Amino acid sequence: MSTNDFQDRGVVVTGAGSGIGRATALQFAARGARVLVADLDRARAEQTVADITAGGGTAVAVVGDLSEQAVVDEVVRTAVETFGGLDVLVNNAGIMDSMSAAADVTDTEWERVIRVNLTAPFLLTRAALPHMLAAGKGAIVNTASEASLRGSAAGAAYTASKHGIAGLTKSTAVMYRAQGVRTNAIAPGGTVTNIQVNADRDALGPAVLGSYMGNVGKPASAEEQAAAIVFLASDAASNINGVVLAVDNGWSAV
Ligand code: NAD
Repeated sequence: MSTNDFQDRGVVVTGAGSGIGRATALQFAARGARVLVADLDRARAEQTVADITAGGGTAVAVVGDLSEQAVVDEVVRTAVETFGGLDVLVNNAGIMDSMSAAADVTDTEWERVIRVNLTAPFLLTRAALPHMLAAGKGAIVNTASEASLRGSAAGAAYTASKHGIAGLTKSTAVMYRAQGVRTNAIAPGGTVTNIQVNADRDALGPAVLGSYMGNVGKPASAEEQAAAIVFLASDAASNINGVVLAVDNGWSAV
């Protein structure tokens, strides 16, 4: 496979200031892509852009909360104007919940987790699709989770949001498969990043989940998750559409 297989393609990576998103942005850039780094955190987003540029690559940052339509519109407009098109969308930005069981989830926690982990990827998918359909090609990769596959990997809000993004992945894959747009997801198991469990957890959730956590296996690096995202977006995955690929050292196989 060519190391420049994404040469001059326009790629949007959300949450690219940290963890899996940052590693993904760097890997796309190393393979020739022009990368839009979208993140809430200005300093981290600008650091990722600086690192790509220092390596001879092309990148631009858009800073803002992706759960807001105006920020989503700015991301897509900037990608299209700067890169001349939008070939790949990686919906990766996400937040953890407090691991709480349903009876203890507040309205605030529920709405924020669903908004960031599920609604924001929907808004970006909706905004990106017209450009991909006009080009007759495109690839969307969503960062789902082990919590997309089972009920014992996180609290109620996060688990619902990540099952939701698995559904969005499959629906989008089916609806647009005749028009050249592929949509897939990775489902990371435990991965070493900056994601934090909210400190406001109740007692029941962690107690129940803790009893199921023995099968997690070896934690992944952000780079291992990024490699799977880049593969799913690449032409090497040209007939892969609608999968939720576990990258979890076999946790989901236990
Ligand atoms: P991370 O915290 O290191 O990075 C997430 C990035 O997303 C941060 O830079 C943050 O600023 C950004 N972000 C968060 N909310 C945002 C918003 N509303 N708008 C714009 N940017 C926002 O975490 P990570 O582990 O790299 O997480 C990436 C994805 O991987 C998430 O969707 C997460 O749910 C998923 N995931 C992580 C793990 C794990 O163990 N780390 C496991 C399964 C799934």
